[in-house]
Amino acid sequence: MSPQPSLPSWVTWWQRPFPDANTLLLPGRQPALVDSGFVGHAEETADWARAHAGDVHLVVNTHWHSDHVGGNALLQARGAGIAAGAPEAEAISRRDPGCCAAEYLDQPVAPYTVDVPLDDGQILRLGEADWEVIRTPGHTPGHLALWQPEERLLVVGDALSDYDVGWVNLALDGLDAATTALASLKRMAELSPRVLLPSHGPVPADPGAAFATALRRARRLVDDPDDGAVWYGARRIFAFALMIRGGVLADEVEPYLHARAWLTDAARLLDRTPQALAAELTATMLRSGAVVLRDGRLHAAAEHAPVAPESLRVPYPRAWPAAEAY
Ligand SMILES: [Zn+2]
Repeated sequence: MSPQPSLPSWVTWWQRPFPDANTLLLPGRQPALVDSGFVGHAEETADWARAHAGDVHLVVNTHWHSDHVGGNALLQARGAGIAAGAPEAEAISRRDPGCCAAEYLDQPVAPYTVDVPLDDGQILRLGEADWEVIRTPGHTPGHLALWQPEERLLVVGDALSDYDVGWVNLALDGLDAATTALASLKRMAELSPRVLLPSHGPVPADPGAAFATALRRARRLVDDPDDGAVWYGARRIFAFALMIRGGVLADEVEPYLHARAWLTDAARLLDRTPQALAAELTATMLRSGAVVLRDGRLHAAAEHAPVAPESLRVPYPRAWPAAEAY
């Protein structure tokens, strides 16, 4: 295996297992954090940042999924500002019930506000360097990447990883979402970064190879929406649900799935009933080994850190206090 590309001394990288996104810390006079992990590990995230860089001045979110914004509320309470892509920033300010897809995906997020809406081409001073905001919609409509041109570092969020491409939600974001994701990937590849910093998994040893794999998989999202996009997204969302709950009792898995908006939408796109999809999803993931039965519960097989059940008890965005209250 080739060695990982070297990171400059002024970045601190934390590769984390699910359910937390990897976290990038940029120490300096005004320390910045890119993504803030899952809500159940907010203390751990904030303490880690403080230990390495002092008080965080700004948190930048690549996008609003729960594994990227879970520490926002706590860091904001401790004085940090929050920056996020403009469409997400606006929705968060409005307290749009669709915020973070938290309710849709049944992934809790503690309430926060966005202080700095970000748009394409904007330059942000993060730690000791300037970074450019690159809008990269696809995985979510507000998804963004961060580009550091001198060191040619590219923070790619969930757009791609060493082995994969970000799932897209055709029901929520429209059938164009896959084409949009592919276009965003091409735009990122054209920057020919020296180092890719993905939100999950390791720093790719070969950014060119990682892009080649991701582009191939993104074409599949476009060419085979059922299998490439809908099934793929459903497997990811289901595995994450199992991870943050420490598994779900085998008897309760299908009723849990039937009540989920994402599953109902996926079933409609796949021309099945929610009941049929729930049964098929569970059976195929058990068969592939992505889900395992242990002590009467179904668990996700992928490595993940435990989450305290009480940390999941936060309101959905429709019940968040008004943004003005901050
Ligand atoms: Zn995501």
